[in-house]
Amino acid sequence: MTLLSVRDLSIQYDSMAGPVYAVEHTSFDMEAGETVGIVGESACGKSTLGLGIMRSLSGGSITNGSIIFDGHSINDIPDAEFDQKYRWKQISMMFQGAMSSLDPVYTIQEQFAEILQHHNFVGNTGNAVSEVIAAVNLEESILRRYPHELSGGMKQRAIIAMALLLKPRLVIADEPTTALDVLIQARIINMLKDLKSSGMSFLFITHDLALLSEIADKVGIMYGGQLVEFGTSESIYNNSQHPYTKKLLESIPRLHGSQPSYISGTPPSLLSPPTTCRFVDRCPEAMEKCQNDPPDFTTADGMVKCWLHE
Ligand code: SF4
Repeated sequence: MTLLSVRDLSIQYDSMAGPVYAVEHTSFDMEAGETVGIVGESACGKSTLGLGIMRSLSGGSITNGSIIFDGHSINDIPDAEFDQKYRWKQISMMFQGAMSSLDPVYTIQEQFAEILQHHNFVGNTGNAVSEVIAAVNLEESILRRYPHELSGGMKQRAIIAMALLLKPRLVIADEPTTALDVLIQARIINMLKDLKSSGMSFLFITHDLALLSEIADKVGIMYGGQLVEFGTSESIYNNSQHPYTKKLLESIPRLHGSQPSYISGTPPSLLSPPTTCRFVDRCPEAMEKCQNDPPDFTTADGMVKCWLHE
């Protein structure tokens, strides 16, 4: 069953320098129980995509397309109804930057309580909190502490626990393990795998293709505000089509074999992105026709925006 369908989505921010085309004409589907990974460099639009689905864009707006969640167009749901019925209950988000996501003047317990009260939680609140605190391997004593009394890793795990509190169907995880050491990172990835096996769906946003290979069923590669390739994990990791995806995979450090390579140049400005292929200035396989029209092709496993696959 399709849980989330993003169709031709464009999101724009207003800035002093003019509109910033953060996400453009992006489409993908995810099934219930799936984990979809969205990967790309900094400022490629991946976090904006997550915030758009969560309806938490600050200073930005959806200018085109639709987001269908469980058969409902969530852009058309009134704010109050979305807050009561969807936010945290059906769709939640693990925000990046634990320090700025937690309120410094309330204890962790009070911040959990606020979510439960806001959503008129019926049931044993103590049990609900204990369950998610245990799931992220935190001691219950942290509930009585303020955010500044916790380490970075503990704060990040508290954020993850909050996102899981109301057992949402879809969790948007925006770089949830970036600030954590590798042991905690491994624990959290294992925890997400367990939750996934219980039927929860994850949209996992990261710059780390290697980490994503542990957990994703499908992967979307974002570049310059566009999804340039989307497919099953197997097709992306073993048979990638887009030159940018190939370059990203070549940049992963390996214990044995070839040295990682890098991609020369910089991504395009999202104030005035190219109207042709966005990767054209950095692509080692660019052809004459790449300078003209933007490519967009359906493949057996998904899609690819590259003229090589016409
Ligand atoms: Fe490279 Fe052309 Fe493909 Fe763009 S369309 S990625 S420039 S080959």
